[in-house]
Amino acid sequence: MPSRARSRYVVRYRKENAESLAKYMAAYYKKNADRIKADSATRRKEYPELNRAYVNKHRVLKLTLPYVKHETAMPVDGRCPHCRVMMTGKYPASNSPSLDHIIPLSRNGHHVPENTMMICLECNTLKGVRPLSYLLGKIALKDASCGITDNQLV
Ligand SMILES: [Zn+2]
Repeated sequence: MPSRARSRYVVRYRKENAESLAKYMAAYYKKNADRIKADSATRRKEYPELNRAYVNKHRVLKLTLPYVKHETAMPVDGRCPHCRVMMTGKYPASNSPSLDHIIPLSRNGHHVPENTMMICLECNTLKGVRPLSYLLGKIALKDASCGITDNQLV
């Protein structure tokens, strides 16, 4: 059977047999719950970046916000655009790259290319669900206080 015809057949079969399939899946899960849980725990550990992508996607879908599948590019210079740290760390290091929603999802920001950027984990944690202006203010304060200390030292 050609693959397109086959997939149409599968879709129709699943629709027509939804109830018995659901029963079968529930029974299968019940019987194999321990193995399934162990397998997914292993997968989460082995592929943390895939797991984060999955968690991210489902967070967006749960909030029923627009979701556009895309790759968010790293900055060309490899530095966090806010604090300028080199993002060479590996999660959960503070200088590891992390996906930031400029307008947070919890503030109705959408998962679209225009609303995502890669920033360091420290900045992302500091920003949390607050707008970008909060983070920039915090960084400006930090820089300003460092300036005063430097002046006092000289
Ligand atoms: Zn940063």
